[in-house]
Amino acid sequence: MGIQFSLVSPLALPTAENLGDPLLPFPHSPELDFALKAVETGVEICIPIYAGTHQGALKKIDASPVTIADFSVQAVTAAMLADRFPDDVLVAEESSAVLREAENAYTLQAVTDVFSHHYRQASPEDVCGWIDRGSSNPQTRFWVMDPVDGTKGFLRGGQYVVALALIEAGEIMVSALGCPHLDEQLQPNFEDGGVMLLAERSGGAWLRPVKGAVWRRLQVSSQRQTELARAAHSFEPTHTNHDLLRALLAELGTNMETIPMDSQAKYAMIAGGSCDLLYRLTSSGRPPGAECIWDHAAGALMVTEAGGRITDLNGEPLDFMQGRTLAVNEGVLVTNGILHDAALDVYRRVTEEAG
Ligand code: AMP
Ligand code: MG
Repeated sequence: MGIQFSLVSPLALPTAENLGDPLLPFPHSPELDFALKAVETGVEICIPIYAGTHQGALKKIDASPVTIADFSVQAVTAAMLADRFPDDVLVAEESSAVLREAENAYTLQAVTDVFSHHYRQASPEDVCGWIDRGSSNPQTRFWVMDPVDGTKGFLRGGQYVVALALIEAGEIMVSALGCPHLDEQLQPNFEDGGVMLLAERSGGAWLRPVKGAVWRRLQVSSQRQTELARAAHSFEPTHTNHDLLRALLAELGTNMETIPMDSQAKYAMIAGGSCDLLYRLTSSGRPPGAECIWDHAAGALMVTEAGGRITDLNGEPLDFMQGRTLAVNEGVLVTNGILHDAALDVYRRVTEEAG
């Protein structure tokens, strides 16, 4: 099933169909409307939970943390998707396994309460079922979600985003990023309520404040001087290879301070021109090809629709059809486009020298 475009006039009167919908002042598909609604709901769920993170986190099998917010956003999105596009598949990060353990009954009840409050009355069993709708593998057409990208940032009081994208035949068609801690200039801001970003293939990337009504089109930076390139990287030291990153940035010759930041908020900054470059390197002990598709899909379309470029570290396109990970790609490089070839060249030279 292909996307159908419709022009929603900014002057259109509300109808039963779009009552309460934010009216998008650019041509867009019904899928983009859905992505906006789902991610807005996700952000509404996250904000009060973030404010009271004393509720803490559970540990997954790989020891990474997961919170009430991760589970709740995934469950609500899965239920919304089943209601709006019943044939569509969801590929999302979380599973209900840890939530079903007897010692986590309290957390499961909290997730059930959040789900019932934000969507509709449900039982704990229903909620586990919705979460596990996300356990699918990529198909010809599927949605990919990270309900809380940057869970460690969420728990630390740092950055996180809600990320959703639609992929058809390997192409990212629409994407939405809810960024509660970025402002309209795409700078970190923990006070103003955050921004929503939307992108549609060949339709551009757009931003408005979470609490605002006016959309503006995003454009990457025009920075072409490598010495002035602003590079972002993971806040978590274990998520990258700092020695290699230092060597790459030295070879590139950038004199700018790097930007440590959790989540695809980094992609939002590049799309909006407040950052120029991101080398996503494989940390030691992690095999190449382990990048999860939900950590990149929504941000990737945002950047390319804003005029930037994304490939793996060898310049190959990201392949979102290899399962739940980017199994045939080595790392990721995101830039404003202008700096891309120089950054690829630097990566090749530095890694060849290192043997
Ligand atoms: P970031 O905040 O950019 O570091 O990205 C957060 C995402 O990195 C999480 O959603 C995880 O899926 C993923 N991740 C977890 N551990 C690692 C690791 N050792 N190396 C790279 N990425 C990781
Ligand atoms: Mg993530």
